[in-house]
Amino acid sequence: MKYGMIPFFIPHVGCPHVCTFCNQSRITEVSGIGYLTPEYITSTIQDYVGESKSDKYWEVCFYGGSFSAINQDLQRQLLVPAYEALKEGRIDGIRCSTRPDAVSDRQLELLRSYGMKTIELGVQSMDDTVLSLAKRGHTSNDVKLAVKQLRKFGFAVGLQLLPGLLGDSWDTIIKTAIEISQLKPDFVRIYPVLVIENTELAEQYKAGIYEPLSLERALQYCAFLKTWFESHQIVVIRTGLQSTEELDAGHSLLAGPYEPAMGELVTNEQWRQSIEHCLDEHTKYFNNRIRAITISYPRNLTSKVRGLKKRNLTYFGKTYGNITFTWRENNDIDTVQCSIDGMVYVV
Ligand code: SF4
Repeated sequence: MKYGMIPFFIPHVGCPHVCTFCNQSRITEVSGIGYLTPEYITSTIQDYVGESKSDKYWEVCFYGGSFSAINQDLQRQLLVPAYEALKEGRIDGIRCSTRPDAVSDRQLELLRSYGMKTIELGVQSMDDTVLSLAKRGHTSNDVKLAVKQLRKFGFAVGLQLLPGLLGDSWDTIIKTAIEISQLKPDFVRIYPVLVIENTELAEQYKAGIYEPLSLERALQYCAFLKTWFESHQIVVIRTGLQSTEELDAGHSLLAGPYEPAMGELVTNEQWRQSIEHCLDEHTKYFNNRIRAITISYPRNLTSKVRGLKKRNLTYFGKTYGNITFTWRENNDIDTVQCSIDGMVYVV
């Protein structure tokens, strides 16, 4: 069944302080939540779903702040119209995003009583130094406790990660990958850090304290994390920030790897890393000079393996100039194969 999201943004609401990288109202192009009256929520749901419910799975999503940390009267005001729609069968689910330190029994009981099914936690990193530098106000241990707590209440759990924060390196990215996979979330989102105007990170960038990720490094981190989670049966539902007119126009984006085609490029990078890994392993084992490599793939993987604007062909051609590469579509196979001087590997 297709998925239909009905998003309501509550920028910064409920947040006990402001994280260094965050300016939700610029990212979501919304400021304040005065407009989120019960009537507005009801009519927005109606606008999305239409008169007769289609075959989509419709979900109301409260994003952009720390939902469970909001004053409970306001939470009820926001939840009641969504819960009414849920009970009447006009929508199929309700979800929110919140902080790992805002999941007490009292907070989760309220959400569950209004039919909430899924909770996404802003985790960002599992390295305590990175969390502290980002002024998150919680530790990696809080994340572990929060996931246990959400499971106790029967929620589906999504974790949001932000590679590229101040203090991040391959070591902290790998540590985050390992510890997140041990928590077995239902899904993960990966958003490489962007420098948005009017944030503390923007000041750190201007002062030369913070160096943003290059697009290439962002792709490498994201591809590594995605491959790692997929190999641990954890679904990655998004890589890269949702493209918005504000970000596309670059008005509030100061620096960082913003790329509307990020998801596609990350998939290209996953294949580049897999092919290169195969090549490295072959070289380590046989320790002789490689002369020719043939990469074969079924048609449905052609653009993914070759890469946007042939980026993977260009990379391997430039990096391994002394090896002859052949890229070949082969519909008799259903995955990618790498033939190195006659030895065939499934990538
Ligand atoms: S808790 Fe989330 S929404 Fe609130 S300031 Fe931090 S990143 Fe932004």
